[in-house]
Amino acid sequence: MSDRFDDVVRNAFDFLGRSIDELEAQPNYSVINFYSAVELFLKARLLKEHWSLIVAKPDEADKAKFLRGDFKSATLDEASKRLAKVVGDGLTEEELRCFDGLRKERNQMVHFAHAAQGDGEEAKDEMNRIVSEHAKGWLYLRRLLTGRWGKHFEAFAAIIEAMDGRMREQTKALKPKFLLLTDVIAEAEAAGGHFMSCPSCDFKSFEAGAPVWVGQGKCLTCEFSSPVITLDCVNDECKKPILLTGGYESCSECGHNYAPEQIEEVLAENGGLSDVDPQDPSDATRANCGSCDGWETVVSLTYAGWFCTDCFDIEDNVEQCEWCSEYSTQLPEDSFLTGCGHCDGRLGDEKDD
Ligand SMILES: [Zn+2]
Ligand SMILES: [Zn+2]
Ligand SMILES: [Zn+2]
Ligand SMILES: [Zn+2]
Repeated sequence: MSDRFDDVVRNAFDFLGRSIDELEAQPNYSVINFYSAVELFLKARLLKEHWSLIVAKPDEADKAKFLRGDFKSATLDEASKRLAKVVGDGLTEEELRCFDGLRKERNQMVHFAHAAQGDGEEAKDEMNRIVSEHAKGWLYLRRLLTGRWGKHFEAFAAIIEAMDGRMREQTKALKPKFLLLTDVIAEAEAAGGHFMSCPSCDFKSFEAGAPVWVGQGKCLTCEFSSPVITLDCVNDECKKPILLTGGYESCSECGHNYAPEQIEEVLAENGGLSDVDPQDPSDATRANCGSCDGWETVVSLTYAGWFCTDCFDIEDNVEQCEWCSEYSTQLPEDSFLTGCGHCDGRLGDEKDD
């Protein structure tokens, strides 16, 4: 199956390349091809686990038909659920929302003529929006391909790097919009605001707290919004102020690879973590993540609720699973019956009997 995997990944990069080539002349094709690439990357990851997972109904999957390409493939929603439940390597909520937005956009393009063509203001806004969304889609794809899914896509490191260069080049189209914002940004800075280079569009218009800070940041140029941590890079040779949007990213200045444990260390060293009370072991300072299913990746911040050092989800509360008593964020309402990310609840227990 590994040559199938290679084919699918190569196709995905091919669609991404076309999306860039077609942006100006035929923005509707650019949008359609971008989303095709997203789907193919998700399918490639499923294919690594088992070929039948990319077929709409895995229980009826026929390998001969699969090899001929004669099958109906899983939808984004199905693929995402399988990545989480079967592969155990799912998308974060933000990633799924972003990819689903691109899917809806693609469907519109297939049915309606496009507003991004022409010279008018409306066309310019529409083009800015597409460039912004593709920058964000690529940010999330690259993060998967080089981070959490990195070991499966190692052989494609050079292509990923080259594609990153092309995407960044495309995103420079937002420069006129950024330039129009420089006064607004200067005013906000004078009033105590703090701006950093945007992880999605690269312009210095991403508003976030000064290091070390955890919270929701937002870019005025491309409107990318994400929970982030700002910090001084832990690499002694670098030490530059940077921001990360996920636990498995690398420093944009020196390439140092981060992991959730290291992010937790940075928070601990800067007094960002609530103390464990050794006298009271039931006093939770750590929990499982209901967004990414991370095991004990959620830490209690001194100033901002509960923070997952893996997917960066920020929540006000954690709750105890009514079935297994584990602490978790985003617990389902009927956890006694359905369980949490780490147990199957009473219904699962009954099934086992
Ligand atoms: Zn931006
Ligand atoms: Zn660095
Ligand atoms: Zn998480
Ligand atoms: Zn549970």
